[in-house]
Amino acid sequence: MLRDSIPLRDKIRRWLPAVLQTVITVGLVLLLWLPFLPLLQSSPVQQVSYSELLQAIRDGRVQAVQISSGEIRALLRPDQASKGRNVPAHAMSATRPPDLYDPELLPLLRNKGVEVVGKIETPSLWRSLLVSALPMLLLIGFWTWVIRKMGRGGEALQFGRNRAKIYNRTQREKATFSDVAGVDESRAELVEIVDFLRNPEKYQRLGGRIPKGVLLVGPPGTGKTLLARAVAGEAEVPFFSISGSEFIELFVGVGAARVRDLFDEAKKHAPCIVFIDELDAIGKSRAGVLAGVVGGHDEREQTLNQLLVEMDGFDSSKGVIIMAATNRPEVLDPALLRPGRFDRQVVVDRPDLAGREAILRVHARKIKLADAVDLHVIAARTPGMVGADLANIVNEAALLAARRGAAAVEMRDLEEAIDRVTLGLEKRTRVMTPAEKERVAYHETGHALTALSVKHADPVHRITIIPRSIGALGATLQLPTTEKYLLTKPELEDRVAVMLGGRAAEDIIYNGVISTGAHNDLERATEMARQMVMRYGMSERLGNQVFGKPMMGQYLESTMSFGEQRNFSEHTAERIDEEVAQLIERTYQRVKDILSHRRGVLERITVELQKRETIDREELEKIVSETESPPRPAAA
Ligand code: ADP
Ligand code: MG
Ligand code: ZN
Repeated sequence: MLRDSIPLRDKIRRWLPAVLQTVITVGLVLLLWLPFLPLLQSSPVQQVSYSELLQAIRDGRVQAVQISSGEIRALLRPDQASKGRNVPAHAMSATRPPDLYDPELLPLLRNKGVEVVGKIETPSLWRSLLVSALPMLLLIGFWTWVIRKMGRGGEALQFGRNRAKIYNRTQREKATFSDVAGVDESRAELVEIVDFLRNPEKYQRLGGRIPKGVLLVGPPGTGKTLLARAVAGEAEVPFFSISGSEFIELFVGVGAARVRDLFDEAKKHAPCIVFIDELDAIGKSRAGVLAGVVGGHDEREQTLNQLLVEMDGFDSSKGVIIMAATNRPEVLDPALLRPGRFDRQVVVDRPDLAGREAILRVHARKIKLADAVDLHVIAARTPGMVGADLANIVNEAALLAARRGAAAVEMRDLEEAIDRVTLGLEKRTRVMTPAEKERVAYHETGHALTALSVKHADPVHRITIIPRSIGALGATLQLPTTEKYLLTKPELEDRVAVMLGGRAAEDIIYNGVISTGAHNDLERATEMARQMVMRYGMSERLGNQVFGKPMMGQYLESTMSFGEQRNFSEHTAERIDEEVAQLIERTYQRVKDILSHRRGVLERITVELQKRETIDREELEKIVSETESPPRPAAA
């Protein structure tokens, strides 16, 4: 139904303005020509000068004259027609000199026996009608055109209308899940969404509620937009796609209107998917640090509010699922992430080695590859790159191969393409050198091994040296086994220990040559130690006291605190600092001891990590038990 109606409407939309424009142009031309119309009608009349006309009267060639306020028209005697002129004419006309009353004219006419016909100037009925009605008609025509344009969401004058593109099955450039690689976990979650749309009954049978909003989160170029398109391609439902920045326009209030229209349209076409790309453009937190201090962002806020209202106002069981993508989830308004709105978040991460190889493979399908090409090697050379970069490399290599006239893309083309793309990337993403990669591997293993060794740490879920979140070079993911409401002092100390594990490993392996890589860890460790001393009364020297009083921000929902009010003496401040320093130092020594003792396994894991880039829990445990058999008792 949708697919059929759209091309027709499009056609109408396309030619309607053209027809109206022609009508208007013709009308305007007519209007300009109107004064000349009578002349065209009453030819052949020869235009002559006043003196020529007088001469003709004197010569007795004129039979009759008709005098009006601006003109004298003379009817020639039949035998005198068009003397000396190349156009035969039976009448001649001259403009009367304005403001000049010619006293000789009437006596002359009388002398020559010329018949004088006065003329009462009443313009013909049709002409006066035209003159008065045409502008009105044109105006009416123009406004009908404008109104229609606005009503149909055409191009030139659509202010309030949504600009969503509709992807559908028939689209040629449609994407499917087979075009997306290396982000298997994200893909698996979206497969479920597709299934929701295809057979909602299956999920609602037991009373479950279908999720309303799915937010794709991840660094730029990891394939969020592509994934959304693939969902559309797979789901076989209409797919309304619009970019967040398109909501924010010149006119205040337009963004909100556009959101309303988008959802109205979507409801009409349910089941369907609404995809808002770059959600952060509208979804930025309203309660930012400076909100209310510096003037508000009215337009964006209105748009955001409208989006929230629309998301609350419909029922996903009707089959409208909203997807959105962002690479800056941290700036999103918390209200957007509440249950009932974007309650599902799908992380689309940078791909690891295997992922990159898979992505290269997807893009290599489009080009002609020489047999000797080993995409695994290429994948190994591109840590930190995302899908968009890899697509770029494959394309660049194809161009290079074509330039040198080769029959197929060879290894050297791909290698050169990497160099080129890497150069361009230097500012955006860091692509690690082997030395850096080694250091990051030791660092992350340090965290992981500390977590494995201390008694109270959450189990290690996965270690990776692929820079995931912005600013971090690697990550050690720990999954809490149970949600904790209370934390004991040893548990907090172990957390600090795990945070310090990265720095400690670097310290041990590189003999004290440490790097900037631990910056964030140290920040968090210091903060936690300070909290333990100041907020939780966990320092023996200072006892069960709380120091300082936080000043909360202006807004309740904002978790930002605006610094702290000091309610203790200078002397106490010094002791707090000492206690914090001591806690950190003590813990650091403990971590260094642990890691030095387990140096063998530290190095084993690091080697493995450099090779594979990602190690998950089972693999990690296997390496540990193989290296240290029988396993050492965990040092507490
Ligand atoms: P994002 O929206 O996350 O910034 P895009 O989806 O726009 O990234 O990705 C840009 C292009 O990069 C895609 O069109 C595709 O060619 C390529 N690409 C990105 N990620 C992948 C992936 N996981 N698999 C295959 N190709 C990818
Ligand atoms: Mg995108
Ligand atoms: Zn670290």
